[in-house]
Amino acid sequence: LQFWDGFKFTKTINEVPDMYSPNGTKPVKAAFVILVRNTELIGMRKAMQSIEDRFNRKHNYPYVFLNDVPFTEEFIEGTRTMTRAKTSYGLIPKEHWSYPDHIDVDLAKQKYKEMGENSVHYGATESYHLMCNFQSGYFFRHPLLEEYDYYWRIEPNVEYPCDIDFDPFLHMQNGNYKYSFTITLYEYPNTIPTIWSAVKEFIETYPELIPERNAFQWIARDGGKKYTGCHFWSNFEIADLRFFRSKEYITFYDFLSSKGGFFYERWGDAVVHSLAVALFLQKEDVYWFKDLGYFHHPWTNCPLGDEWIKRKCTCTQDTLLNSQTHKYAECGFVWDKLPGKDDKVDLNEPLY
Ligand code: GDP
Ligand code: MN
Repeated sequence: LQFWDGFKFTKTINEVPDMYSPNGTKPVKAAFVILVRNTELIGMRKAMQSIEDRFNRKHNYPYVFLNDVPFTEEFIEGTRTMTRAKTSYGLIPKEHWSYPDHIDVDLAKQKYKEMGENSVHYGATESYHLMCNFQSGYFFRHPLLEEYDYYWRIEPNVEYPCDIDFDPFLHMQNGNYKYSFTITLYEYPNTIPTIWSAVKEFIETYPELIPERNAFQWIARDGGKKYTGCHFWSNFEIADLRFFRSKEYITFYDFLSSKGGFFYERWGDAVVHSLAVALFLQKEDVYWFKDLGYFHHPWTNCPLGDEWIKRKCTCTQDTLLNSQTHKYAECGFVWDKLPGKDDKVDLNEPLY
């Protein structure tokens, strides 16, 4: 790859022997993947401390850090020292973090201003648009991820408030799951005014890419007239990279990209990933980690009942923003209502 060879764009350090898999063989080809800024070092150390304590000190899955500017020595030193696992640092190629040729940059900037005036969440922030575009269409193409089948997305300042006494990567691989989540929410409609018409046009244009069974009911309201807004909160995400590298996903991303909504509107990667999951996968391909404690401001997934004791959780079960109980997170429970492979039900019956 041209942007890769001959440049000191990446660094891999911490190649220490791993006491849990001494031959360097891991049961799953998997890594944590973190897009992060140099300025977020403290939050990154907090997140790493949490995931190491609750899970990874027993597994030593590697970390891949990605950034649109080179990582500083301080950031590298400050993260490398939080784990015994391998840590790698990659620079994102410019063409994965810039405006596509078909975007009118002046128009985009005009739109950012209007979105700011209309209080569109992050709509006025140029870097956020580039970030969402990257997380939607490019992260899985980074050369540092080439050797992996599965990734677990982490962000600075997230917290894992319960013991994770199983291996979620292994669970994904053994169950042949393609995607997983902890929290689902409704998207703010004013970030995605035209995305549903783009999705409908995509379905009409590429019917051969849409399998007979999928999870369309989860995203379709009023018989398909509207998007439900349901999306998996992608700041936590454990998924099969081969899903994102697939012809179906890439074609979907390219189609959405051509519509301009990553810049003229504020389409987020959570919605884009979720729409793709609902179009191309079926219920059985997706796993809901209900008992995996997770916090990203302001939402928590805090296990209920005995699980809370058993898993040594430090989250508050009855917090208003616990996705296990909150109305705004009901998309998860609608997901549960989706008919399974063996259920004899009308696939066109609306769930909403
Ligand atoms: P929010 O979760 O939607 O409020 O957005 P965040 O600010 O947490 O951003 C999502 C992820 O992208 C986090 O891991 C950030 O560290 C990362 N991120 C956001 N903007 C940038 C950026 O401009 N450069 C880099 N390198 N990372 C970014
Ligand atoms: Mn975040």
